[in-house]
Amino acid sequence: MSAPSRSDNVDLIELEADVLVIGGGMAAGWAAIAAARAGAAVVLVDKGFMGTSGVTATGGPNHWWVPPAPGRREAAVEERHARSFGLAERDWMMRIVETTWRTLPELAPYYPFAPDGSGGTYYSGLRGPEYMRGLRRFASDLGVRILDHFPALELLVHRDGSVAGAAGYARLQRRPWAARAGAVIIATGGCAFRSGLIGSDPNTGDGYLMAAEAGAELSGMEFSTAYSLSPAWNSTRTLPYPAARFFDAAGAELDIPPPMSGEPHLKALGAAMLAGPVYADLSDAPDLLKRILSRIQPASPTPFERRGIDLFAERFEVKLYGEGTIRGTGGLRIAGPGCETTVDGLFAAGDAATRELIAGATSGGGAQNSAWALTSGLDAGAAAAARTRRLGHRTAEPAVAAGRAALRPKAAVRDVDRAAILADVQREMLAYDRVLWRSEESLRAAETALGDCWRALSDHTAAQGLDRVAARETAAMLATARWCTAAARARRESRGMHMRTDLPMPDPAAAYRLLTGGSDEPWTRYETAAARPTELAA
Ligand SMILES: Cc1cc2nc3c(=O)[nH]c(=O)nc-3n(C[C@H](O)[C@H](O)[C@H](O)COP(=O)(O)OP(=O)(O)OC[C@H]3O[C@@H](n4cnc5c(N)ncnc54)[C@H](O)[C@@H]3O)c2cc1C
Repeated sequence: MSAPSRSDNVDLIELEADVLVIGGGMAAGWAAIAAARAGAAVVLVDKGFMGTSGVTATGGPNHWWVPPAPGRREAAVEERHARSFGLAERDWMMRIVETTWRTLPELAPYYPFAPDGSGGTYYSGLRGPEYMRGLRRFASDLGVRILDHFPALELLVHRDGSVAGAAGYARLQRRPWAARAGAVIIATGGCAFRSGLIGSDPNTGDGYLMAAEAGAELSGMEFSTAYSLSPAWNSTRTLPYPAARFFDAAGAELDIPPPMSGEPHLKALGAAMLAGPVYADLSDAPDLLKRILSRIQPASPTPFERRGIDLFAERFEVKLYGEGTIRGTGGLRIAGPGCETTVDGLFAAGDAATRELIAGATSGGGAQNSAWALTSGLDAGAAAAARTRRLGHRTAEPAVAAGRAALRPKAAVRDVDRAAILADVQREMLAYDRVLWRSEESLRAAETALGDCWRALSDHTAAQGLDRVAARETAAMLATARWCTAAARARRESRGMHMRTDLPMPDPAAAYRLLTGGSDEPWTRYETAAARPTELAA
């Protein structure tokens, strides 16, 4: 198997870079900026348009923002560490806080930060669309070459297994592309299994699949049970709901008192929704929120305005939208302080990487996630540039394409019902009863069903042309579902957002991160104390 080359395909678009960034959200933007600042020639490929694609673009990301006042950061880190169920690392957390604090003001030439009301500037919360526009302009000014509608499909690897670049399909040109690079950063976001979650349509786990096929490990995939509350007809962001009260179809108030937070609340809502429609009443929301919502999260009021509903005065039906590994925590395993993965030359950032190092078994929602996307992007960008500077390019060496599922089948090609496979994936990964009430029995059944889907799709599909993008998306969602299921079954306890009805308590002996990987046969193993991520330099 060799990489696409001009002799194989006269239409091939050939690219070369010191650092190739795959993705076009917040993490990719900061990664590209850091690599370019370090002097690297950077190419960034996005599946959609960098600025509107992914969950950053539709949101109002609030960053973990702690000033360096005496004792304040230590207290903030301790408070979050105590909630991490033993899986976070204080030194990573401290570094994330410092980097975020130092970095956000650098965006000032590109983003209209507002006053904070006490004579300073309000840096921590940004409007997603303007944030992404600012990152795009910042990266462009540093010389980053941005290629929109350039989905990556697979990685290219050298004979020694190190990463040599990536290959994909240019949607608008209808031509395949291949890029050779000194280092590659996966910043493809998390995977929400096409739940309808706002902004998440391109977040199909492609980066996990291409990295795992090249030998990368994942971590924390059992922590994939996040949901966000929204009107039943349209996913929005979650800011309006902390003071919500809930009612059933007969108008009786449900015993789910505000403030909205944590797994018990989520399970209570899930149980109520399994029993029938649930309605939210936001009339107790703070006046300030009522006044400024449309300014800070312009996407949230729109679905109500379209239906003529006053969201702070009228009750409306709500639904939980699955977030998978977006505000779930799992992702590619981080093996070093530069956000290296376990494959030489491959780095990971943002939701594509595990966030356990700072959030442990919890989501990290509300602040840590954006700070992680920013910081892991910067770390990966700088480390990827340094690696290329140190080792140079190996473009004269041959590289092979590492992708297999839905591209290079093991057996005879035949028609495979991809819609039915996606329905199976969504049932196992989004249905409240499967996800919020896991048990050995339900997980074993899921493993069998998803394994059958995998063999059908992976062994018998050889997608062509533009269809390769959709086929790989289905394969990636299916592979992600299998890793989530394998990890949930292997973690024989309840910890943080991973909740099992048959093992409802945490097991002190299992206070380690759990690794997974492998595409045809998913494997799992605990990361022992001896094999923890490389300790940070003091
Ligand atoms: C409802 C909601 C509310 C949130 N609120 C907060 C909050 O208040 N505070 C907080 O800290 N966090 C919050 N988060 C989380 C935060 O938004 C994310 O952690 C962060 O935006 C992730 O950035 P990212 O760059 O990793 O991913 P994304 O912004 O999703 O970017 C992923 C990019 O990868 C591209 N891509 C995917 N596949 C491919 C491929 N094959 N080839 C090329 N490109 C590809 C996509 O097109 C997209 O551009 C929230 C999330 C949600 C869903």
